[in-house]
Amino acid sequence: MYDPKSLKAEEFINDEEILETLAYAEKNKDNAALIDEILEKAENRKGLSHRDAAVLLDCTLEDRNRRIYELAKQIKKDFYGNRIVMFAPLYLSNYCINSCVYCPYHRQNKHIPRKKLTQEEIKAEVIALQDMGHKRLALETGEDPVNNPIEYVLESIKTIYGIKHKNGAIRRVNVNIAATTVENYQKLKEAGIGTYILFQETYHKESYEKLHPAGPKHDYAYHTEAMDRAMEGGIDDVGLGVLFGLEMYRYEFAGLLMHAEHLEAVHGVGPHTISVPRVKKADDIDPTAFDNGISDDTFAKIIACIRIAVPYTGMIISTRESEAVRARALSLGISQISGGSRTSVGGYAGYTPDERPHDTEQFDVSDQRSLDEVVNWLMKLGYIPSFCTACYREGRTGDRFMSLCKNGQIQNCCHPNALMTLKEFLMDYASEDTVSVGNKLIESEIPNVPNDKTRGILIDNLSKIEQGTGRDFRF
Ligand code: SF4
Ligand code: SF4
Repeated sequence: MYDPKSLKAEEFINDEEILETLAYAEKNKDNAALIDEILEKAENRKGLSHRDAAVLLDCTLEDRNRRIYELAKQIKKDFYGNRIVMFAPLYLSNYCINSCVYCPYHRQNKHIPRKKLTQEEIKAEVIALQDMGHKRLALETGEDPVNNPIEYVLESIKTIYGIKHKNGAIRRVNVNIAATTVENYQKLKEAGIGTYILFQETYHKESYEKLHPAGPKHDYAYHTEAMDRAMEGGIDDVGLGVLFGLEMYRYEFAGLLMHAEHLEAVHGVGPHTISVPRVKKADDIDPTAFDNGISDDTFAKIIACIRIAVPYTGMIISTRESEAVRARALSLGISQISGGSRTSVGGYAGYTPDERPHDTEQFDVSDQRSLDEVVNWLMKLGYIPSFCTACYREGRTGDRFMSLCKNGQIQNCCHPNALMTLKEFLMDYASEDTVSVGNKLIESEIPNVPNDKTRGILIDNLSKIEQGTGRDFRF
């Protein structure tokens, strides 16, 4: 039976409820009166239930779809302004005992070299990332209790936070590792991680079991209940995601929102982020083998509908997507993107921006531009690339972050923080053209800080950063 408050995977992600939701959405996809009612509800910016959101996703009425996109854009603007938070993935190890059929790190793949970074190699990778300008990382590693035990992950986090190289510093380490125990989540919390990210891949149990034929990840309930254990272990910020293209996207969409509703119902706080990866080409993997791939248009509609359904949840898009797809997604709801990413183990240190090792790549990177190029591009599109990590460092996580966000207060911090961290980037890492575009952007954005006192402090801090007499300021 469907119960969002249950701690059992099959009750809070209930197959029957999803199928009924999809039938309801299909029946009402051209029901203009109902769609108007849902859109009115959505305009209150309090989010939508998975049933209401599923109707919007299915809607085929052109004028109503236009309103859906407009509302998504408006909500994006109201909650996130024109800021985009930057991050990069860091692959520690591709040893893995699972057999996910869509991932080249699956254990049967014998043509991929297996690699695990030593602490010295991690240092070199992090210095390379710092030299690009990154402040926020997402750690990635396969599941292998012998090669990548939790102690290895904890030691690596300590190493990363401890590296001070020139003006660089990694200020937030998010972690994407396999589902684990409450005890291990407590250890990750103590190590000072930011968000714990775990993609569900697919919410459809039968498909899930087929896609993960062996290894610990085969256990659907253990995987699906991981976020509850993470929160029990004290981790406030969790990041959800599905791999679009594995199962029917309407099913995934409903499952994803039901998972968000479940976290809110049980823990009083929804997911911190939602990621929207799509299956990509990789070694020993053929994406055409999955016949549920989605078009760019459907992808855009999913992003818009998630934005409307969970306005307080950040949305992430990676370099799996091309420049064009990312540009469209940014306006519809994405608030975080990666830049200059390498999806291989040891892909940063010792390589020029144009070189990329392919031997251990997890997936093909569509957007191959450097971080400087992505930052430059974002600014020319009118966005402020932000390297802000203030909330985490001020202890504004979980429900504290959410209540600030729900009161609209978070924006009083985000805008000046974005400008100050961008200024640091321009001073330390940017190319000449990026510096010139960035300084003009900062000048034009200063008057948009509404509070006089905050604006005064901002101007003062910007000049300290420029003169080299201070940095790492935050509101
Ligand atoms: Fe291993 Fe993760 Fe790849 Fe699955 S998706 S094979 S768990 S690295
Ligand atoms: Fe994110 Fe908080 Fe910084 Fe805003 S102030 S960009 S919510 S870390």
